Amino acid sequence: MTVRDRRSRPVVAIVGAGFGGLWAAKALRDAPVDVLMIDRRNFHTFYPLLYQLAAAELEPQSVAYPVRSIFRNQHNVRFLLADVERVEPTANTLHTSEGPVRYDYLILTPGSTTNYFGIPGAAEHAWPLRTLEDGMALRDHILSRFEAAAREPDPERRAKMLTFLIVGGGPTGVEFAGALSELIVGPLQKDYRELDLHEVSVVLIEQGPRILSSYPARLSDWAARRLAKLTVDLRLGEAVEAVEPDGVVLRGGERLLADTVVWVAGVRGDPAMDAWGLPLGRSGRVVVEPTLQVENAPNIFVVGDAAVLPDQPLPLVAQVAIQQGKTAAANIKALLSGQPCRAFRYRNLGDMAVIGRGAAVFSRGALQLTGFLAWILWAAVHIFNLIGFRNRLVVLATWAVEYLTFERGSRLLRTPGAAARLVSAR
Ligand SMILES: Cc1cc2nc3c(=O)[nH]c(=O)nc-3n(C[C@H](O)[C@H](O)[C@H](O)COP(=O)(O)OP(=O)(O)OC[C@H]3O[C@@H](n4cnc5c(N)ncnc54)[C@H](O)[C@@H]3O)c2cc1C
Repeated sequence: MTVRDRRSRPVVAIVGAGFGGLWAAKALRDAPVDVLMIDRRNFHTFYPLLYQLAAAELEPQSVAYPVRSIFRNQHNVRFLLADVERVEPTANTLHTSEGPVRYDYLILTPGSTTNYFGIPGAAEHAWPLRTLEDGMALRDHILSRFEAAAREPDPERRAKMLTFLIVGGGPTGVEFAGALSELIVGPLQKDYRELDLHEVSVVLIEQGPRILSSYPARLSDWAARRLAKLTVDLRLGEAVEAVEPDGVVLRGGERLLADTVVWVAGVRGDPAMDAWGLPLGRSGRVVVEPTLQVENAPNIFVVGDAAVLPDQPLPLVAQVAIQQGKTAAANIKALLSGQPCRAFRYRNLGDMAVIGRGAAVFSRGALQLTGFLAWILWAAVHIFNLIGFRNRLVVLATWAVEYLTFERGSRLLRTPGAAARLVSAR
């Protein structure tokens, strides 16, 4: 597609309708450019609530929103559903599954993918939680394990079906462990009367000495106590050495048997970017200049999880992507008007993680909060940042109902047969 042929204004192509891409496009609303947003999915995913999808708290449509609807009223944005396969900086061209796309400026924000750190069997046998599709598949798998356990007479096989190992004690692992445990001790306990819920175990495995290692120690300890209260078995200082079809092997040789291993231990740049001809650094992410430009390609910007700034180590969180998206857009405007680009500086608005119903930790500078107050803050921030008025309303109402009733509405097993097949295939 030769976009330039039909238009006289410069074309800014944005690859990825994630946090970085959306905020970059919004920041270009009044710029004299045409924005072409490209994504392989036709929706934006709100990852911070993905664990609630996997734990049957929310429906997929509550954590995703169609890209075209987001830009319905921004007339300089068009959307192309396509997979970007390669960048050709010398020809200002993107090669996509739908043909070549010419650009004048390019913002790459393709996010990241699960990092298995080369652990044998992890990619084959563990369940990732990185995309909307992962969240739905994991939810179906978990529900299918309860159905299978309900008809399994052998106690050892039943125990394996009801053991859920979560590898990685960062925010996603902690939030998912809490939500899964509450799903079990809440609605599933009532619905599966034939099962003894004492047979169920949720185990969180973290190789470091504490969970939420990037948070202040006091908050990590509080979160660990709270998870213990939710009957999550914390295995700290334990590294997974291999993942097998029926569980994991820990360093030291101990075997934990389980039908379900969830891998949330880290992320890396998408290996597909290896072929994009851009300078890659640590974890397969693109090395950028302080202005977020790629060296020797000043019209290409990389932002969000996919970018690495050599002298500014940053967390892989939505706020970084959002702020970088805005900076990349501001720098494109600067280039258009002959001004110098400005260097990116991250402003940390705070770190937060939720640990089950009505409890969270929050830290910003010297301010540290735990418990209900932190949860209210967490809920407000997430509702505010969720895309789409309908989603905000639905999520708020769902949380209110679930908070009051201890129920989880999103428990329909969509494809029971397929879930069982997935178990044997993975
Ligand atoms: C389970 C989970 C929980 C998280 N929780 C939090 C949290 O609580 N708070 C927080 O701040 N951060 C959280 N994060 C991190 C946060 O979501 C990321 O840092 C953020 O999404 C990065 O934004 P991005 O724009 O770089 O990429 P993304 O938001 O990942 O968007 C990338 C987009 O690019 C598209 N894409 C990728 N490759 C191609 C291609 N080749 N062609 C076309 N399209 C492509 C994808 O489909 C996607 O839409 C979480 C992440 C996960 C996975």
